[in-house]
Amino acid sequence: MVSEQLERLDRLPLRDNLRGLSPYGAPQLDVPILLNVNENTHGVPADVQAAITEAVAKAATGLNRYPDREFTELREALAEYLGHGLAPENIWAANGSNEVLQQILQAFGGPGRTALGFPPTYSMYPLLASGTDTAYVTGVRADDYGLDAASAAAQVRELAPNIVFLCSPNNPTGTGLGLDVVEAVYEAGEASQAIIIVDEAYHEFAHDGTPSALTLLPGRERLIVSRTMSKAFALAGARVGYLAAAPEITDAIRLVRLPYHLSAVTQATALAALQHREALMAEVEDIKVQRDRIVDGLTRLGLKPAASDSNYVFFGGLENPHAVWQGLLDAGVLIRDVGIPGHLRVTAGTETETTAFLEALEALLDGPAPARA
Ligand SMILES: *Cc1c(COP(=O)(O)O)cnc(C)c1O
Repeated sequence: MVSEQLERLDRLPLRDNLRGLSPYGAPQLDVPILLNVNENTHGVPADVQAAITEAVAKAATGLNRYPDREFTELREALAEYLGHGLAPENIWAANGSNEVLQQILQAFGGPGRTALGFPPTYSMYPLLASGTDTAYVTGVRADDYGLDAASAAAQVRELAPNIVFLCSPNNPTGTGLGLDVVEAVYEAGEASQAIIIVDEAYHEFAHDGTPSALTLLPGRERLIVSRTMSKAFALAGARVGYLAAAPEITDAIRLVRLPYHLSAVTQATALAALQHREALMAEVEDIKVQRDRIVDGLTRLGLKPAASDSNYVFFGGLENPHAVWQGLLDAGVLIRDVGIPGHLRVTAGTETETTAFLEALEALLDGPAPARA
């Protein structure tokens, strides 16, 4: 925000922890190739678009009424999609997983309580904590940004948080966490009765055979697995996120949700997409191919991509990442400068977009100003 705007805001009786802040969000620039916010670059397939249009048209006939407050049909469809013996009472959904995470903090965080995250990780965690007056404390990762079970558990025991955020695959690094880490953190959180959130926003992009923390839910009533339809389901614009957990967790969230928070249009859209998921999952397979192409291409260029189980690649080995980011932008390719020295993050595009990114990057690295570290 410009300083004049900030000054005017500052004259308001704003909450102390909001003073001086700017609204969060990556730049939304008008650039031909957008690879900066890990959206699904493959678009909504035509048959899914048609199914959504039909479902929304049907929902429109009943918009004079409030929607099903319990979004029962959607919870049934999400439980069926996730499998693992989950039932509708294990499922909760909201307007994006950001809202799901906010509701978890509203129910289990708040003044006097603490949430733990392990940066670099999803930048919304501290913001959601602040918005609910939950203290945010940070743990440490290894030099390669990995997190092992012993280290994570020791930090949880020491910091005794009320909530722990584990992001797997982690944003921005793209690398998944072993389930041993989740198990160890869950056990270590016993003393402080910590709610353990595993944010699996990108799970569908993981390499075949990567187990989900959903397998750990039975018998762990403090464990929550968070998912979203924004990435694999290509529905970032529809705003649908969800979680799976013990039924008592979803009951706790019912205490803080706004009545009718999930509109009839949203419910209809999500249901139609779930019913036509084959076409969407075929796109996911192609995105994984493009993701692997990026990892190979970056390696060939002498850069250091992290192993990725997501639809984006975090890569190091850059002397001046901001100059590379700007050079790519000048070439019509927007990627993400996540503020980590020597590194950038790029979302897997369509085949054409991915080729354009790799070619533009190669031209920059071969250009007059050496950009490799
Ligand atoms: C994109 C993303 C989400 C999804 O947010 P929505 O509100 O569902 O769009 C959640 N967690 C992480 C780590 C993400 O990168």
